[in-house]
Amino acid sequence: MNSRERVLAALRREPVDRTPVCNPTSVATVELMDLADAPFPEANRSPELMARLAAAGHTELGFDSIMPVFSIVQESSALGCAIEWGEKNSWPTVRMREPIWREPADIRLPSDFLNHSDIRCVLEAIRILRREFGGRVAIIGKTLGPWTLAYHCLGLEPFLLMTVDDPDKARLCLDKLKELTVLFGLAQIEAGVDALTLPDHATGDLVSAGYYRRFLRDLHAEFAETLPVPLILHICGRTLDRMEDIAQTGMAAFHFDSKNPPLEAMRIAGNRIALVGNVNNPATLLRKGPEEVRREVFNCLAAGVQLIGPECAVPLQTPVENLKEIPRAVRDWPPDHAQT
Ligand SMILES: [Zn+2]
Repeated sequence: MNSRERVLAALRREPVDRTPVCNPTSVATVELMDLADAPFPEANRSPELMARLAAAGHTELGFDSIMPVFSIVQESSALGCAIEWGEKNSWPTVRMREPIWREPADIRLPSDFLNHSDIRCVLEAIRILRREFGGRVAIIGKTLGPWTLAYHCLGLEPFLLMTVDDPDKARLCLDKLKELTVLFGLAQIEAGVDALTLPDHATGDLVSAGYYRRFLRDLHAEFAETLPVPLILHICGRTLDRMEDIAQTGMAAFHFDSKNPPLEAMRIAGNRIALVGNVNNPATLLRKGPEEVRREVFNCLAAGVQLIGPECAVPLQTPVENLKEIPRAVRDWPPDHAQT
């Protein structure tokens, strides 16, 4: 199997020659920017640099996937949110304290959205990657879910308050914003992605499992119906309490955080959704060494996690040696028990 076949088979929960190493979110680091000669912030705004930095995840690190949408600001930039593009060693961010909308009636999706330079950048980077790696390596795009878009455009606190004070109003916002998720998703499919990550940050640290069920489960099921490639839902933080609902969405995979023990997560997922992750970023990949990375990879493999990778976008200071250890460990599985 080549890398693309391996990733796509695992996303369908079909047999693979070995477990794929997959990054549904960014593996860009400062070290990788130097290796690829494609630094932030330019690599978030120039298609050539974006494609080059993303490709290094495969050519330098040995991952089976390539994911060019490093940040979560492209859509919000095109919608008119204030963006801090940052420096080489910092992430672009949305200034959520300066929301652009307050009410559902304010929400207007610009007709030229797909022509905005930060959207065209992503689509062009995908086309470049498709030409260079298409058919061999899984190319993964990213389209933000309406919950995350609501944080960006209406402000995190105002939107969360709205979900409490006027749930129907909040639902109306999500309903309008979902059009954008579909529009950008379809455009990336046309540009040539094999799968799409759909981050929608209804994380256990901010909202309850009941919220996921009431506001998002059916919307997520709708995306799985509408977007004709495997979808990888990404929600950081503690999510075990909503994994049963997530498993019912029909999404191909769930990208899960190391706050959720792999064995327990696999038990809940059953054979309804593949899991991808969940090597810890802040403690392990950023601060520890290859030995500890290897142990976590083995822990995921032992639990039967279908695709292995970091739990979320890796911190920019993550050592490349730690990231390279993930594919190395996967190839060495199962370990020789005589040595361990
Ligand atoms: Zn995350």
